[in-house]
Amino acid sequence: MRPSDFIGNTPLLKINEKLYAKFETYNPSGSIKDRIAAYIINDAEKNSKLKKGDTIIEATSGNTGIAFSMIAAERGYKMKIVMPSNMSEERKQMMRLFGAEIIDVEPGDFDKAISLRDELAIKNGWFNTNQFHNPLNIECHEKTTGVEIVEQVKNIPNLLSAFILGTGTGGTMMGCYKTLHDVYPKMKLIAVEPTESPVMSGGEHGVHGIQGIGDGSKFLVDLKKVDQILLVSTEEAKIRAKELMKEKGIFVGLSSGANVLGAERWIEKNNPEGIVVTILSDRGERYLSCL
Ligand code: PMP
Repeated sequence: MRPSDFIGNTPLLKINEKLYAKFETYNPSGSIKDRIAAYIINDAEKNSKLKKGDTIIEATSGNTGIAFSMIAAERGYKMKIVMPSNMSEERKQMMRLFGAEIIDVEPGDFDKAISLRDELAIKNGWFNTNQFHNPLNIECHEKTTGVEIVEQVKNIPNLLSAFILGTGTGGTMMGCYKTLHDVYPKMKLIAVEPTESPVMSGGEHGVHGIQGIGDGSKFLVDLKKVDQILLVSTEEAKIRAKELMKEKGIFVGLSSGANVLGAERWIEKNNPEGIVVTILSDRGERYLSCL
């Protein structure tokens, strides 16, 4: 067995009577992004788009880079990562230790990271995994994360009232939504975004510290399917993540803090009949320098 054979089938953790969270830290590189990295590379291998020794390139806020770097190391590919320089040192160090090369762009500038990735991929003939626009990103969550949540919620004697989470590419949100909405058509879809960069709410893109969400554009998110957008600031996300560690033993990053806080606020305001599901996207160790 290889590390990537253990991706997915993560637990659904009970946060409180109304709130459950998919514990994605269980994936081998520590985040939900292992799922799409394996899905995209498996597809490329199946369709003979990649062969041993080839170079893969991606633009990422970190977790996708860590996930691709792990699989590249496992399978003998070279990995290039383009990322804004303000992402945490722990993330960069993990990618380097997996053997990847990091190419920095300006802080918070995902547009630049994406355009540089595209440019380098074309110029050098590298395989571009294209997470921000790749339909396989959505398909992966539809066929894996979403299916798992449906199975896990079946064991809870309550319906699913809402799915609440922040978005980076939007792949997790839109993929899970497809599966969940088929089974629970009355379910609400609620997005969480950083107060400092409220682009889906119609505001200006700004630099924030909730790494992994709020990457400056809605990307794969279909806003017509989103019922409400909640704002959580970097400071609030940080405080909630630290409380989860100290009070519940759940060691997760800032976007998980934002997801839990957003979901708790929504539950308090809407008093739903059923339960709410959110995502704990990555492990807290990669934020030690920011917490
Ligand atoms: N949280 C973290 C920590 C992430 O790294 C990501 C991925 N960028 C997300 C949330 C959002 O996931 P998605 O790209 O599927 O929207």
